[in-house]
Amino acid sequence: MTAPTVSPPPPGSPRRDPADRPAGPSLSPSRAADFKTCPLLFRFRTIDKLPEQPSADQVRGTLVHAVLETLFDLPAAERTPEAAAALVEPAWQRILTEEPGVAEILAAAPARRGVTDPAAVAAEADASGLPVIPGQAALADVPEPDEATRLSAFLDSARALLPGYFAVEDPRRLEPAERESLVSTLIDDELLIRGYIDRLDISPAGDLRVVDYKTGGAPREAFEGRALFQLKFYALVLWRTHGVVPRVLRLLYLKDAEALDYSPDAEELERFERTLVALSAAIERAKRDQDFRPKPSRLCGWCSHQALCPEFGGTPPPYPTTTDPAADSAPADDDRLA
Ligand code: SF4
Repeated sequence: MTAPTVSPPPPGSPRRDPADRPAGPSLSPSRAADFKTCPLLFRFRTIDKLPEQPSADQVRGTLVHAVLETLFDLPAAERTPEAAAALVEPAWQRILTEEPGVAEILAAAPARRGVTDPAAVAAEADASGLPVIPGQAALADVPEPDEATRLSAFLDSARALLPGYFAVEDPRRLEPAERESLVSTLIDDELLIRGYIDRLDISPAGDLRVVDYKTGGAPREAFEGRALFQLKFYALVLWRTHGVVPRVLRLLYLKDAEALDYSPDAEELERFERTLVALSAAIERAKRDQDFRPKPSRLCGWCSHQALCPEFGGTPPPYPTTTDPAADSAPADDDRLA
Protein backbone atom coordinates (compact mmCIF):
# COMPACT_ATOMS: atom_id res chain seq x y z
CA MET A 1 0.00 0.00 0.00
CA THR A 2 1.28 3.44 -0.82
CA ALA A 3 1.67 6.20 1.73
CA PRO A 4 -1.29 8.30 2.82
CA THR A 5 -1.98 11.21 0.53
CA VAL A 6 -2.43 14.51 2.28
CA SER A 7 -1.39 17.11 -0.21
CA PRO A 8 -1.11 20.85 0.41
CA PRO A 9 -4.36 22.78 -0.03
CA PRO A 10 -4.87 24.82 -3.19
CA PRO A 11 -3.09 28.19 -3.23
CA GLY A 12 -5.05 30.71 -1.24
CA SER A 13 -7.23 28.08 0.39
CA PRO A 14 -8.03 28.75 4.03
CA ARG A 15 -8.58 25.05 4.69
CA ARG A 16 -6.52 23.45 7.41
CA ASP A 17 -4.46 20.31 7.29
CA PRO A 18 -6.54 17.42 8.72
CA ALA A 19 -3.61 16.51 10.97
CA ASP A 20 -3.87 19.88 12.75
CA ARG A 21 -7.51 19.54 13.59
CA PRO A 22 -8.91 18.66 17.02
CA ALA A 23 -10.96 15.47 17.24
CA GLY A 24 -14.29 16.14 15.61
CA PRO A 25 -16.85 14.64 13.27
CA SER A 26 -15.57 12.51 10.44
CA LEU A 27 -16.97 10.40 7.64
CA SER A 28 -15.82 7.66 5.30
CA PRO A 29 -17.87 6.66 2.24
CA SER A 30 -18.96 3.33 3.72
CA ARG A 31 -20.02 4.77 7.03
CA ALA A 32 -21.88 7.59 5.30
CA ALA A 33 -23.64 4.97 3.17
CA ASP A 34 -24.41 2.93 6.31
CA PHE A 35 -26.20 5.87 7.90
CA LYS A 36 -28.16 6.57 4.74
CA THR A 37 -29.09 2.89 4.45
CA CYS A 38 -29.96 2.24 8.12
CA PRO A 39 -29.01 4.47 11.08
CA LEU A 40 -29.12 1.47 13.44
CA LEU A 41 -26.68 -0.43 11.24
CA PHE A 42 -24.39 2.62 11.43
CA ARG A 43 -24.63 2.51 15.23
CA PHE A 44 -23.88 -1.22 15.42
CA ARG A 45 -20.82 -0.85 13.20
CA THR A 46 -19.39 2.49 14.25
CA ILE A 47 -20.43 3.08 17.86
CA ASP A 48 -21.00 -0.40 19.28
CA LYS A 49 -18.22 -1.74 17.04
CA LEU A 50 -19.86 -5.13 16.82
CA PRO A 51 -17.69 -7.63 14.94
CA GLU A 52 -18.72 -8.84 11.49
CA GLN A 53 -17.41 -11.61 9.32
CA PRO A 54 -16.74 -10.52 5.75
CA SER A 55 -18.48 -12.62 3.11
CA ALA A 56 -16.66 -14.82 0.61
CA ASP A 57 -17.60 -12.24 -2.05
CA GLN A 58 -15.88 -9.52 -0.04
CA VAL A 59 -12.79 -11.69 0.42
CA ARG A 60 -12.72 -12.26 -3.35
CA GLY A 61 -12.96 -8.51 -3.85
CA THR A 62 -10.01 -7.97 -1.51
CA LEU A 63 -8.00 -10.57 -3.41
CA VAL A 64 -8.71 -9.10 -6.85
CA HIS A 65 -7.96 -5.57 -5.64
CA ALA A 66 -4.62 -6.85 -4.28
CA VAL A 67 -3.79 -8.46 -7.63
CA LEU A 68 -4.58 -5.29 -9.57
CA GLU A 69 -2.54 -3.23 -7.15
CA THR A 70 0.56 -5.43 -7.40
CA LEU A 71 0.19 -5.75 -11.18
CA PHE A 72 1.51 -2.21 -11.43
CA ASP A 73 4.65 -3.20 -9.51
CA LEU A 74 5.69 -5.12 -12.63
CA PRO A 75 7.52 -3.39 -15.49
CA ALA A 76 4.92 -2.03 -17.91
CA ALA A 77 5.63 -4.55 -20.67
CA GLU A 78 5.07 -7.47 -18.28
CA ARG A 79 1.55 -6.47 -17.19
CA THR A 80 -0.18 -9.18 -19.18
CA PRO A 81 -3.31 -11.24 -18.43
CA GLU A 82 -1.08 -14.25 -17.75
CA ALA A 83 1.05 -12.28 -15.30
CA ALA A 84 -2.06 -11.03 -13.50
CA ALA A 85 -3.43 -14.58 -13.20
CA ALA A 86 -0.08 -15.69 -11.78
CA LEU A 87 -0.37 -13.02 -9.06
CA VAL A 88 -3.57 -14.51 -7.62
CA GLU A 89 -1.96 -17.32 -5.62
CA PRO A 90 0.80 -15.16 -4.02
CA ALA A 91 -1.72 -12.42 -3.26
CA TRP A 92 -3.92 -15.01 -1.54
CA GLN A 93 -0.97 -16.22 0.51
CA ARG A 94 -0.25 -12.65 1.63
CA ILE A 95 -3.87 -12.17 2.66
CA LEU A 96 -3.76 -15.44 4.60
CA THR A 97 -0.59 -14.33 6.38
CA GLU A 98 -2.08 -10.98 7.33
CA GLU A 99 -5.54 -12.32 8.19
CA PRO A 100 -5.52 -16.10 8.79
CA GLY A 101 -9.24 -15.97 9.63
CA VAL A 102 -10.22 -15.55 5.98
CA ALA A 103 -9.61 -19.27 5.40
CA GLU A 104 -12.44 -20.03 7.84
CA ILE A 105 -14.70 -17.62 5.98
CA LEU A 106 -14.29 -19.69 2.83
CA ALA A 107 -14.76 -22.92 4.73
CA ALA A 108 -17.94 -21.62 6.37
CA ALA A 109 -19.45 -19.94 3.31
CA PRO A 110 -22.40 -21.90 1.95
CA ALA A 111 -22.21 -22.74 -1.72
CA ARG A 112 -24.69 -20.43 -3.40
CA ARG A 113 -25.98 -19.59 -6.78
CA GLY A 114 -27.04 -16.21 -8.00
CA VAL A 115 -26.37 -12.64 -6.94
CA THR A 116 -24.82 -12.37 -3.49
CA ASP A 117 -23.47 -8.85 -3.57
CA PRO A 118 -25.08 -7.07 -0.59
CA ALA A 119 -24.21 -3.64 -1.97
CA ALA A 120 -26.10 -4.44 -5.15
CA VAL A 121 -29.05 -5.71 -3.16
CA ALA A 122 -28.97 -2.63 -0.94
CA ALA A 123 -28.93 -0.40 -3.96
CA GLU A 124 -31.76 -2.31 -5.55
CA ALA A 125 -33.74 -1.98 -2.34
CA ASP A 126 -33.02 1.75 -2.26
CA ALA A 127 -34.33 2.03 -5.78
CA SER A 128 -37.33 -0.23 -5.56
CA GLY A 129 -38.58 0.51 -2.06
CA LEU A 130 -39.60 -3.15 -1.82
CA PRO A 131 -40.59 -4.44 1.62
CA VAL A 132 -38.22 -6.54 3.66
CA ILE A 133 -38.43 -10.29 3.26
CA PRO A 134 -36.30 -11.74 6.07
CA GLY A 135 -34.17 -14.59 4.89
CA GLN A 136 -34.57 -13.58 1.26
CA ALA A 137 -30.81 -13.76 0.88
CA ALA A 138 -30.83 -17.52 1.30
CA LEU A 139 -30.37 -18.90 -2.16
CA ALA A 140 -30.52 -22.46 -3.33
CA ASP A 141 -27.84 -24.60 -1.71
CA VAL A 142 -25.67 -26.86 -3.79
CA PRO A 143 -23.68 -29.85 -2.52
CA GLU A 144 -20.79 -28.73 -0.31
CA PRO A 145 -17.35 -29.38 -1.88
CA ASP A 146 -14.30 -30.34 0.16
CA GLU A 147 -11.88 -27.65 1.36
CA ALA A 148 -9.28 -28.01 -1.41
CA THR A 149 -11.91 -27.99 -4.13
CA ARG A 150 -13.57 -24.98 -2.55
CA LEU A 151 -10.30 -23.03 -2.38
CA SER A 152 -9.40 -23.96 -5.94
CA ALA A 153 -12.82 -22.82 -7.15
CA PHE A 154 -12.49 -19.62 -5.15
CA LEU A 155 -9.10 -18.76 -6.67
CA ASP A 156 -10.44 -19.64 -10.13
CA SER A 157 -13.38 -17.30 -9.54
CA ALA A 158 -10.91 -14.51 -8.74
CA ARG A 159 -8.87 -15.26 -11.89
CA ALA A 160 -12.09 -15.28 -13.92
CA LEU A 161 -12.63 -11.60 -13.09
CA LEU A 162 -9.28 -10.50 -14.52
CA PRO A 163 -10.09 -10.77 -18.25
CA GLY A 164 -12.84 -8.24 -17.61
CA TYR A 165 -10.19 -5.81 -16.48
CA PHE A 166 -7.97 -6.35 -19.51
CA ALA A 167 -10.99 -5.96 -21.81
CA VAL A 168 -11.38 -2.32 -20.80
CA GLU A 169 -7.84 -1.23 -19.92
CA ASP A 170 -4.32 -1.93 -21.05
CA PRO A 171 -2.15 -1.62 -17.93
CA ARG A 172 0.99 -1.54 -20.07
CA ARG A 173 -0.03 1.99 -21.09
CA LEU A 174 -0.68 3.26 -17.55
CA GLU A 175 1.50 4.48 -14.69
CA PRO A 176 -0.83 5.18 -11.76
CA ALA A 177 0.06 8.10 -9.50
CA GLU A 178 -1.51 6.39 -6.47
CA ARG A 179 -2.78 2.92 -5.65
CA GLU A 180 -4.85 1.90 -2.62
CA SER A 181 -4.19 5.27 -1.07
CA LEU A 182 -5.72 6.82 1.99
CA VAL A 183 -6.88 10.33 1.16
CA SER A 184 -8.43 12.85 3.51
CA THR A 185 -9.38 16.47 3.89
CA LEU A 186 -11.44 18.82 6.04
CA ILE A 187 -14.65 20.29 4.73
CA ASP A 188 -16.73 23.00 6.37
CA ASP A 189 -13.59 23.62 8.48
CA GLU A 190 -14.39 20.77 10.87
CA LEU A 191 -15.64 17.64 9.11
CA LEU A 192 -12.89 15.15 8.23
CA ILE A 193 -13.72 13.04 5.18
CA ARG A 194 -11.41 10.21 4.28
CA GLY A 195 -11.22 6.89 2.54
CA TYR A 196 -9.22 4.64 0.26
CA ILE A 197 -9.08 5.11 -3.48
CA ASP A 198 -8.25 2.11 -5.64
CA ARG A 199 -6.24 4.10 -8.14
CA LEU A 200 -5.48 7.67 -9.12
CA ASP A 201 -4.11 8.50 -12.55
CA ILE A 202 -2.60 11.92 -13.27
CA SER A 203 -2.02 12.90 -16.89
CA PRO A 204 1.03 14.92 -17.97
CA ALA A 205 -1.33 17.92 -18.22
CA GLY A 206 -2.32 17.44 -14.56
CA ASP A 207 -5.79 15.95 -15.15
CA LEU A 208 -6.93 13.54 -12.42
CA ARG A 209 -8.79 10.29 -13.01
CA VAL A 210 -10.13 8.29 -10.06
CA VAL A 211 -10.59 4.58 -10.80
CA ASP A 212 -12.65 2.23 -8.67
CA TYR A 213 -12.70 -1.52 -9.35
CA LYS A 214 -16.03 -3.29 -8.87
CA THR A 215 -15.90 -7.05 -8.52
CA GLY A 216 -19.62 -7.59 -7.89
CA GLY A 217 -22.45 -8.30 -10.29
CA ALA A 218 -23.87 -6.35 -13.19
CA PRO A 219 -24.23 -2.62 -12.72
CA ARG A 220 -27.74 -1.45 -12.04
CA GLU A 221 -28.99 2.07 -12.10
CA ALA A 222 -29.18 2.41 -8.33
CA PHE A 223 -25.98 0.47 -7.74
CA GLU A 224 -24.19 2.91 -9.99
CA GLY A 225 -25.72 5.71 -7.96
CA ARG A 226 -24.33 4.17 -4.79
CA ALA A 227 -20.91 3.69 -6.35
CA LEU A 228 -20.90 7.21 -7.72
CA PHE A 229 -21.63 8.49 -4.22
CA GLN A 230 -18.36 6.85 -3.19
CA LEU A 231 -16.49 8.30 -6.16
CA LYS A 232 -17.87 11.80 -5.62
CA PHE A 233 -16.64 11.49 -2.07
CA TYR A 234 -13.12 10.87 -3.36
CA ALA A 235 -13.48 13.54 -6.05
CA LEU A 236 -14.31 16.06 -3.36
CA VAL A 237 -11.26 15.05 -1.29
CA LEU A 238 -8.98 15.29 -4.33
CA TRP A 239 -10.44 18.63 -5.38
CA ARG A 240 -9.79 20.03 -1.92
CA THR A 241 -6.29 18.55 -1.66
CA HIS A 242 -5.02 18.92 -5.25
CA GLY A 243 -6.91 22.09 -6.17
CA VAL A 244 -8.44 20.65 -9.36
CA VAL A 245 -11.71 18.85 -9.96
CA PRO A 246 -10.95 15.31 -11.17
CA ARG A 247 -11.69 15.11 -14.88
CA VAL A 248 -13.01 11.55 -14.78
CA LEU A 249 -14.49 9.23 -12.17
CA ARG A 250 -14.26 5.70 -13.58
CA LEU A 251 -16.13 2.67 -12.31
CA LEU A 252 -14.57 -0.47 -13.71
CA TYR A 253 -16.93 -3.45 -13.53
CA LEU A 254 -14.71 -6.48 -13.92
CA LYS A 255 -17.43 -9.12 -14.12
CA ASP A 256 -19.10 -7.42 -17.05
CA ALA A 257 -15.98 -5.90 -18.62
CA GLU A 258 -17.60 -2.48 -18.54
CA ALA A 259 -16.29 0.95 -17.65
CA LEU A 260 -18.55 3.76 -16.58
CA ASP A 261 -16.94 7.20 -16.84
CA TYR A 262 -18.42 10.21 -15.16
CA SER A 263 -17.13 13.79 -15.15
CA PRO A 264 -18.09 15.89 -12.14
CA ASP A 265 -18.09 19.67 -12.08
CA ALA A 266 -17.29 22.08 -9.29
CA GLU A 267 -20.92 23.10 -8.67
CA GLU A 268 -21.93 19.47 -8.29
CA LEU A 269 -19.12 18.77 -5.84
CA GLU A 270 -20.06 21.86 -3.85
CA ARG A 271 -23.62 20.52 -3.59
CA PHE A 272 -22.23 17.14 -2.61
CA GLU A 273 -20.12 18.79 0.07
CA ARG A 274 -23.26 20.39 1.53
CA THR A 275 -24.95 16.97 1.46
CA LEU A 276 -22.11 15.44 3.47
CA VAL A 277 -22.17 18.29 5.99
CA ALA A 278 -25.92 17.78 6.45
CA LEU A 279 -25.43 14.01 6.79
CA SER A 280 -22.74 14.54 9.40
CA ALA A 281 -25.04 16.90 11.32
CA ALA A 282 -27.77 14.23 11.27
CA ILE A 283 -25.29 11.66 12.64
CA GLU A 284 -24.18 14.03 15.40
CA ARG A 285 -27.84 14.64 16.34
CA ALA A 286 -28.46 10.89 16.48
CA LYS A 287 -25.41 10.49 18.73
CA ARG A 288 -26.53 13.30 21.01
CA ASP A 289 -30.01 11.81 21.31
CA GLN A 290 -28.72 8.22 21.24
CA ASP A 291 -31.41 7.67 18.65
CA PHE A 292 -30.42 5.41 15.75
CA ARG A 293 -33.56 3.94 14.21
CA PRO A 294 -33.73 0.78 12.15
CA LYS A 295 -34.59 1.29 8.51
CA PRO A 296 -35.49 -2.10 7.09
CA SER A 297 -34.71 -2.94 3.49
CA ARG A 298 -33.66 -6.00 1.53
CA LEU A 299 -30.14 -5.42 2.87
CA CYS A 300 -31.43 -6.86 6.16
CA GLY A 301 -31.02 -10.30 4.58
CA TRP A 302 -27.26 -9.74 4.74
CA CYS A 303 -27.15 -7.81 8.02
CA SER A 304 -25.03 -9.51 10.69
CA HIS A 305 -27.05 -7.91 13.47
CA GLN A 306 -30.62 -9.09 12.95
CA ALA A 307 -30.59 -10.77 16.38
CA LEU A 308 -30.12 -7.34 18.00
CA CYS A 309 -32.49 -5.45 15.72
CA PRO A 310 -36.01 -4.51 16.90
CA GLU A 311 -37.29 -5.13 13.37
CA PHE A 312 -36.47 -8.80 13.95
CA GLY A 313 -37.57 -9.00 17.57
CA GLY A 314 -34.13 -8.18 19.01
CA THR A 315 -32.93 -5.58 21.50
CA PRO A 316 -29.85 -3.43 20.84
CA PRO A 317 -27.16 -3.52 23.54
CA PRO A 318 -27.04 -0.58 26.01
CA TYR A 319 -25.65 2.51 24.33
CA PRO A 320 -21.93 2.69 25.12
CA THR A 321 -21.24 5.11 27.97
CA THR A 322 -17.95 6.18 26.44
CA THR A 323 -17.41 6.43 22.74
CA ASP A 324 -14.17 6.96 20.92
CA PRO A 325 -14.30 10.54 19.57
CA ALA A 326 -12.45 9.28 16.49
CA ALA A 327 -14.81 6.32 16.19
CA ASP A 328 -15.94 7.07 12.68
CA SER A 329 -12.76 8.71 11.45
CA ALA A 330 -10.98 5.52 10.47
CA PRO A 331 -11.97 4.35 7.02
CA ALA A 332 -13.69 0.99 7.17
CA ASP A 333 -12.31 -2.12 5.50
CA ASP A 334 -15.31 -2.11 3.20
CA ASP A 335 -14.20 1.29 1.89
CA ARG A 336 -11.68 -0.77 -0.02
CA LEU A 337 -14.04 -3.49 -1.10
CA ALA A 338 -16.89 -4.09 -3.52
S1 SF4 B 1 -31.53 -5.90 10.26
FE1 SF4 B 1 -32.03 -4.26 8.78
S2 SF4 B 1 -33.09 -2.69 9.98
FE2 SF4 B 1 -32.01 -4.03 11.42
S3 SF4 B 1 -30.00 -3.06 11.77
FE3 SF4 B 1 -29.72 -4.55 10.12
S4 SF4 B 1 -30.02 -3.34 8.23
FE4 SF4 B 1 -30.90 -2.14 9.92
